[in-house]
Amino acid sequence: MLRSKLPDVGLTIFSVMTQLSNDYNAINLSQGFPDFDVHPDLLDLVNKYMRSGHNQYAPMQGVLILREKIAEKVMELYNAVYDPVSEITVTSGATEALFAAIAAVVHNGDEVIVLEPAFDSYVPAIELNGGIPVYVKFRFPEYGIDWDEVKQSVTSKTRLIILNSPHNPTGAVLSGDDIAALKHIVKDTKILILSDEVYEHIIFDGIRHESISRHPELLSRSFVISSFGKTYHTTGWKIGYCLAPAPLSKEFQTVHQFLTFASNTPIQFAYAEFMRNKDVYLNLSTFYQKKRDRFLKLIEKSRFKPIPCHGTYFQMLDYSEISDESDIKFSKRLIMEHGVASIPPSVFYHQKDDHKVLRFCFAKKDETLDKAAEKLCKI
Ligand code: PMP
Ligand code: GLN
Repeated sequence: MLRSKLPDVGLTIFSVMTQLSNDYNAINLSQGFPDFDVHPDLLDLVNKYMRSGHNQYAPMQGVLILREKIAEKVMELYNAVYDPVSEITVTSGATEALFAAIAAVVHNGDEVIVLEPAFDSYVPAIELNGGIPVYVKFRFPEYGIDWDEVKQSVTSKTRLIILNSPHNPTGAVLSGDDIAALKHIVKDTKILILSDEVYEHIIFDGIRHESISRHPELLSRSFVISSFGKTYHTTGWKIGYCLAPAPLSKEFQTVHQFLTFASNTPIQFAYAEFMRNKDVYLNLSTFYQKKRDRFLKLIEKSRFKPIPCHGTYFQMLDYSEISDESDIKFSKRLIMEHGVASIPPSVFYHQKDDHKVLRFCFAKKDETLDKAAEKLCKI
């Protein structure tokens, strides 16, 4: 029998719930992806670059013009300086970037601090590289970070802290106070930071996105990762990027070149040209805030109770008034009996903490949200 390298890891919950949702013809608010179309100009641009012969390997680091546009954007938004030649890498989705960053710096026996609930790719990537996850839980139900606990978890073996803001699945976001606490903890240490900021353009209620790249003393020890899939409604195109100071980028690229070598060429050219229209990403928060508010209004009279969501396109709903079943059981029944698919967040905890909440994706057409809410209100 083959000895598994990840014996406790099954099929990712996103595939499980989407499959079940399809089997039962349910409304799929589980896996996070939009059900509306990509901007037609972006489609035309991909076509343009495919037809004009941009169909062979891109440079290993990514198409330079795209790296330059990314550098310009992060300078304008976060006042962060990254050299497009040596400090930016275009990747095959944020998932690849997360894996490459972890593989680049985590050695056998190194400890990595992971805040739970955690996006499901972090821990397998740590373990495949011989690292040891050290878990700290967000406080429930407000999903704040207990920085004293983070501090107590630091040892001489701590190599990396993984952060994610806006946070999937909770919708929590880092505040200025969080950043101050983080700075205090890493000061005078060699701890590196991996900051997953794929929802950087989806943050609500006028809150400022606390990119790690805004803070020079953190930037110098950080990999900052984002994804075009979230920003341009193109999750199936799988293009992301990693920002990191040159010495970190060098190690990152050493791994990246053998994970994928380079990412899709015509799509990189298309994004570079499409990024000239800054309004698209600058207006994304307003677009999704309306969806969040619509969904909340529609389910106001249901027996689900929302937990405040400040960013991402996910809304957590407490179902404890409806059932005391586990979140996994209840989410399956919600698909099979009521026709709505969600994600049970207990899968994002190593001890499967079950708070009787479910995660619903509101990156959907208004009519999809209307239909889903109608079903949820009947329960
Ligand atoms: N991190 C988080 C927090 C995510 O929600 C996602 C979404 N899938 C990813 C990383 C991966 O992004 P990508 O689809 O670009 O690989
Ligand atoms: N990020 C998406 C989510 O959280 C899906 C990721 C995936 O399917 N791997 O739903």
